[in-house]
Amino acid sequence: MLKGYRNEPFTKALTDLVNKYQPEIVLLGATTMGRDLAGTVATTLQTGLTADCTELRIDPATRALAATRPTFGGSLLCTIMTLAYRPQMASVRPRVMAMPALQPGKSGEIVEDTLGMVETDIVTKLLDFIPDANRNTVNLAYADIVIAGGKGLKNAENFKLVWELARVLGAEVGATRAVVQAGWTEAERRVGQTGKTVRPKLYIAAGISGAIQHRVGMEAADCIVAINNDPNAPIFDFAHYGIVGNAMQVLPELTAALRSHLDKRIRKAARASPGQR
Ligand SMILES: Cc1cc2nc3c(=O)[nH]c(=O)nc-3n(C[C@H](O)[C@H](O)[C@H](O)COP(=O)(O)OP(=O)(O)OC[C@H]3O[C@@H](n4cnc5c(N)ncnc54)[C@H](O)[C@@H]3O)c2cc1C
Repeated sequence: MLKGYRNEPFTKALTDLVNKYQPEIVLLGATTMGRDLAGTVATTLQTGLTADCTELRIDPATRALAATRPTFGGSLLCTIMTLAYRPQMASVRPRVMAMPALQPGKSGEIVEDTLGMVETDIVTKLLDFIPDANRNTVNLAYADIVIAGGKGLKNAENFKLVWELARVLGAEVGATRAVVQAGWTEAERRVGQTGKTVRPKLYIAAGISGAIQHRVGMEAADCIVAINNDPNAPIFDFAHYGIVGNAMQVLPELTAALRSHLDKRIRKAARASPGQR
């Protein structure tokens, strides 16, 4: 079994498997490792790779994989088909696609194979894995609630209002590129085309204009609440709920109201089961 990611043996393993089983389509997650691996596998196999896709389907006319991804700085979506080479390869960012409903009765086949590689043949050795102790573990992609702030918050001090609301709701904090560039929060919190793709149940966007490059990273949220003082801000075109107002007033009021609501629920639950701690 392959352990400890290194590009060279993983590329060899996957290209050997592709050459043996001749699949029509090879899909990888556009994670840090997936991005690294997809490029070298496609290059070794001399085939096309459509990276960072947001949609995949089969084109009925050609039976080819139609892979859609943002292009031209995110202002357009393009659909790419690999017609002349096989396999057709694509990578998809985590969480950009909804989990499909379970189809009872359908099953796949897992084929186990021996890769015929020995550790001593591999030039790159993995001596140890030392996680970065200072790394802030931001878990945006899998968060159920994301509170995100934009440049409309004006400064780093006001951006703390986003953190306060997030703390009350047990949410993750997200940001626009403009906020990250201003240094109000770390790069791992950037949502959008060049940042994370999120799919939470609730996304609260405070002082965010809703530029396409931000939108592609969060529009799949089940419920988007936008707070913006400009009623014509583009974010109101796709938000489910909109609050036209000053985020520096709305955020603390929302935080206080939700805190009091949650406190009441906790007290009620404690009264209902007095024996439990
Ligand atoms: C190649 C490329 C890639 C990019 N990738 C990303 C990406 O991954 N993620 C991303 O986010 N951006 C990305 N961008 C940048 C993107 O185009 C926008 O510039 C950015 O998203 C804007 O951030 P913002 O909404 O915080 O700021 P602004 O566009 O400045 O919007 C601020 C908003 O706050 C509102 N506002 C002002 N004052 C208040 C107030 N008091 N209360 C409430 N609202 C207020 C304003 O009406 C405005 O709508 C990318 C751009 C390019 C060219």
